[in-house]
Amino acid sequence: MDLPRNKIIIIAAPSGAGKTSIVRYLLEKMPDQLAFSVSCTTRAPRPGETDGKEYYFIPVTEFEKKISEGSLAEWEMVYPGKYYGTPVSELERIWQMGKTPLLDIDVKGGLNIRRRYPASSLAIFIEPPSLEELSRRLQARGTENPESLTARIEKAGYEMSFKNEFDQVVLNEDLPTACRETEKWVRTFLQAPAP
Ligand code: 5GP
Repeated sequence: MDLPRNKIIIIAAPSGAGKTSIVRYLLEKMPDQLAFSVSCTTRAPRPGETDGKEYYFIPVTEFEKKISEGSLAEWEMVYPGKYYGTPVSELERIWQMGKTPLLDIDVKGGLNIRRRYPASSLAIFIEPPSLEELSRRLQARGTENPESLTARIEKAGYEMSFKNEFDQVVLNEDLPTACRETEKWVRTFLQAPAP
């Protein structure tokens, strides 16, 4: 189902590397070309998150049903007990609007999508300046308890080892610079003729 005109943009990074800010920037700058791909997850909503906007928040049983039906383009247990996945229906919904899905997903999920849609996807890795800085940013964000913070830092070290498998790596030392650089890669990719 890899229709050539149907492009996909993947923004992946360790948690806290700034990818959500970059994704928000791209959606604001390019609202006619891009739409956010809303994933399913079994984690609980954080304060301020709305079902159907940041995620479709669903129970584990429903998520596992989607896995067995094959209705997810990729899925991962990103953290112990917490599933995250990209519904195929979400990609199709966005393509049908004539836009390109923008995926904010973890590193392994990003590479899996890249492999599933090799001709039509652009995978960008957002690199944090260092693991120390990542830890500082996550603490400042204040969304994680100590266990979750430790899990995210440990996972980040592992995820960094995959950066060379991405089409582009953008260092997020300074957010506005990283936003502009990512936008440049996205525009170049969208302007290229469909394969
Ligand atoms: P958070 O819980 O902070 O919203 O997200 C945790 C991680 O899961 C982030 O790296 C986020 O990008 C990733 N994620 C979100 N949606 C998906 C998805 O559909 N698939 C995969 N593999 N990862 C996802």
